[in-house]
Amino acid sequence: VDYYLGNIERQQHLNAFLEVWPDEARAQADAVDAKRAAGTAGPLAGMVIGLKDVLAYAGHSLQSSSRMLDGFKSLFTGTAVQRLLDADAILIGRQNCDEFAMGGSNESSYFGPARNAADPNRVPGGSSGGSAVAVQADMCLASIGSDTGGSVRQPAAFCGVIGLKPTYSRISRYGLVAFASSFDQIGPLTRSVEDAALLLEVMAGPDGMDSTASQREVPAYSQLLAPAGHYRIGYIADAIDNEGLNPEIKAALEGQLDRLRGLGHVVEPVDFHYLDVMIPTYYILTTAEASSNLSRFDGVKYGYRAPDVTDLESLYKKSRSQGFGPEVQRRIILGTFVLSANYYDAYYTKAQRVRRLIKEKTDELLRQYDFLVLPTTPTTAFRIGEKQDPVSMYLADIFTVQASLAGVPAISVPMGEDAEGMPMGLQVMAGAFREAELLAFATELV
Ligand code: GLN
Repeated sequence: VDYYLGNIERQQHLNAFLEVWPDEARAQADAVDAKRAAGTAGPLAGMVIGLKDVLAYAGHSLQSSSRMLDGFKSLFTGTAVQRLLDADAILIGRQNCDEFAMGGSNESSYFGPARNAADPNRVPGGSSGGSAVAVQADMCLASIGSDTGGSVRQPAAFCGVIGLKPTYSRISRYGLVAFASSFDQIGPLTRSVEDAALLLEVMAGPDGMDSTASQREVPAYSQLLAPAGHYRIGYIADAIDNEGLNPEIKAALEGQLDRLRGLGHVVEPVDFHYLDVMIPTYYILTTAEASSNLSRFDGVKYGYRAPDVTDLESLYKKSRSQGFGPEVQRRIILGTFVLSANYYDAYYTKAQRVRRLIKEKTDELLRQYDFLVLPTTPTTAFRIGEKQDPVSMYLADIFTVQASLAGVPAISVPMGEDAEGMPMGLQVMAGAFREAELLAFATELV
């Protein structure tokens, strides 16, 4: 704990943590030591973990990096976090992220951007940016983030760490601030595949507090990491030939595919022609869900309330206008628009249909192949302030939203660095609930 606290202290300029809990972490560490001595320590004993600021932890501030939740403290602990505590993890602090997890650079945070430790002038990715930097710069052993359209995998790729988005419903969302409820998943950011497997094993499973959480039994992922011989691996040809793909990432990916062939796996190109509808479909559906989810922030029940209001309507208007930043407001407006009576069928219903097509095609490919491989991101980490246009930011999610639309698990593993020393990520998807196979295969990639 002292080691990580020292690293956090020395690297405050990276803005990874919004808050640290030194006294509590030390007390947890002492308690774990005592349990160790008694031989009763849990599976995460000694793991020092940071939490993205979207996870409820009783008595602790929870803000989703938004002014809207200024001063708000959670009254309860979410299921995933409770399971970490029950397994004797040590929680060290609350991590910076994009406001309400909306973004891909951590720049929409009310607390300013976190910075990439490989080059502090660049973004760490987002929305779980602080969580990725914290692992990259050794400020904690692992972080717990959330991934709606890439928010664990993309910052993991930008920061050279591992990021896992489990199958939708594998981990309970109870105690996760909702962004787009049919996409949101909690996921770990780690340095090793083993740690990702162990954290998933602890956090996953049925939960009476989230009726969408899967009832399926949780495999002992951490005991199932031996690769099972030769796999059938598909790579999405359109992704590799995508004109926006950085040539160094393309070359690294092709190198990995050759290496996998050399190891005896079957590696084949697959057709997947939905790449250009991926971003519109994702942004229509997630903004629709977000506009509904965020209606609870009205200046009455939680956090920020505007001063100088005259009546109930001005209380709503002023609190929401002042409490939400521009990206969140943009999405609420867009989501409200696509759900409005005159446009519902043209946008929302159509996007639901396209989501179904994407899911069916993805599931079909994942029956033909054990895994689908593609880049995590089209570029490496960009400079802070470089992407001013929201659409260019959205387009950068091109490779991560497929797994989110289809609800299947996906992992990003480090794939070397570009000529400027910036990390690159390789992404692998597997069929729903095939995390054990996915993690075992990932051990061959790192
Ligand atoms: N960058 C994507 C978005 O802004 C993903 C966000 C996320 O996964 N939370 O929606």
